[in-house]
Amino acid sequence: MAPIGKECDFLVLGGGSGGLACARRASAMYGAKTIAIEVARLGGTCVNVGCVPKKITWSAATLQEQMHDSKAYGFSFKETAPFDWAAFKHKRDEYVKRLNGIYARNLNNDKVEFLHGLAEFVDQNTVKVTLDDKSEVEIKAKKILIAVGGYPTWPEVEGAEHGITSDGFFELEKQPKKVAIVGAGYIGIELAGMFNALGTETHLFIRHDTFLRTFDPMIQEKLVAEYERLGVIIHKQSSQSKLEDLGNGQKKLHYKDSNGEASDDFNTVLWAIGRTPDFRRLNLGVTKIDVNERNHIKVDEYQNTNVPHIYALGDACDRGFELTPVAIAAGRRLADRLFGGKADAKLEYHNIPSVVFSHPEVGSIGLTEPDARKEFGDENVKIYSASFTSMYYSMMEPDKKAPTSYKIICAGKDEKVVGLHIMGLGSGEMLQGFGVAIKMGATKADFDRCVAIHPTSAEELVTMK
Ligand code: NDP
Repeated sequence: MAPIGKECDFLVLGGGSGGLACARRASAMYGAKTIAIEVARLGGTCVNVGCVPKKITWSAATLQEQMHDSKAYGFSFKETAPFDWAAFKHKRDEYVKRLNGIYARNLNNDKVEFLHGLAEFVDQNTVKVTLDDKSEVEIKAKKILIAVGGYPTWPEVEGAEHGITSDGFFELEKQPKKVAIVGAGYIGIELAGMFNALGTETHLFIRHDTFLRTFDPMIQEKLVAEYERLGVIIHKQSSQSKLEDLGNGQKKLHYKDSNGEASDDFNTVLWAIGRTPDFRRLNLGVTKIDVNERNHIKVDEYQNTNVPHIYALGDACDRGFELTPVAIAAGRRLADRLFGGKADAKLEYHNIPSVVFSHPEVGSIGLTEPDARKEFGDENVKIYSASFTSMYYSMMEPDKKAPTSYKIICAGKDEKVVGLHIMGLGSGEMLQGFGVAIKMGATKADFDRCVAIHPTSAEELVTMK
């Protein structure tokens, strides 16, 4: 049967955060005839196997911690309340399903035509979509956006397939008693913190002596120490040679770490070693689009690829920030530029705040200290830092107190704030407002002019000497 033919102004490949934000704005605000394609669930990584179910799990883990903490405040439990992983997972899945429905309704409200199916390039202007019923639609589009996101990278380790990735984490029906997590980035650190707080024996395998190595050294040093204090078993200088499936839900991981060669049994082994753009079924080759050595699509600051009417954003492109709000912001500005007559609309890819939902949270914006010293020279950089114990821990024994550490990095005579790095309770919520100030070009004197809110941890950021 010949494919059904369609034409549109704007074809968006990928129904994740960035693609949908761009499609909706193009259609609803500017009237572009827009079609969006997604082969999996609407909402992409963030909604289905990322930020959303992760944050809900992080909140569960935080509640568990607070239940422990509450004893110091005079509450008494015979034992800590048991955590019903299966019931929690079911409820979390239901919430995500509701969001999938909301995303579908939003597309409908904004008059974006949505097709559920697999998209493949036929040529630079044409995309074939195989729908769920196997019928085919061939779409000719004036402009095409590639926003297909990525998938977790699998390592080249014998038997790696016996492990899972972050996608598999969200499918776990049972809480593992003992878990091995391999990786040293956002995902590995967040999942290790949650498992540990929820009572799973947690082993974290990292290749070096610290994790989150793109973060400021203060964050790396303090958070590694804190994870060790909390009981995460960190295998430093480690590599893995083999993973065996022993049956009965047991896996044997063969590895080397700073103590030499060893093997150990785990219920779950989770690889969290980065993500790869998902061009597996896109037939990208026919477009002659340039990709970099890590297979990310090369784009300029306006999200243009080397093919004039094809654009890319989010985890599929090479801008270096695999973050939902970055993809959304880039998508909205792209729609403004392509269809809204705003020729200069583009996302500024600097001073982008981000938070790691570790235990405790870490927030970061701007330059790390080493990068600031490299950019401005030692003599032009001034560092303010504070390490203290939040008042929240005042009722607790010394060994139950988590540290709070902040660092402000200033450059030049006027001490413009070029980096801010915070670790401690509430950092996730705290950073957003400071991010606004830093985006506006705040100096240390501006920080100091703001009267402190007492008693909070954040007040340290406006009183640092
Ligand atoms: P990342 O790229 O952040 O980190 C993965 C790390 O794993 C690497 O930096 C590397 O650290 C280590 N690694 C790489 N290869 C190997 C290997 N073969 N064996 C062992 N370790 C290895 O990837 P993630 O998967 O953690 O996350 C992907 C992206 O998703 C993040 O970069 C982030 O942008 C986004 N994300 C954001 C979140 C948030 O905003 N809160 C939450 C989760 C994800 P090293 O070089 O030190 O060994």
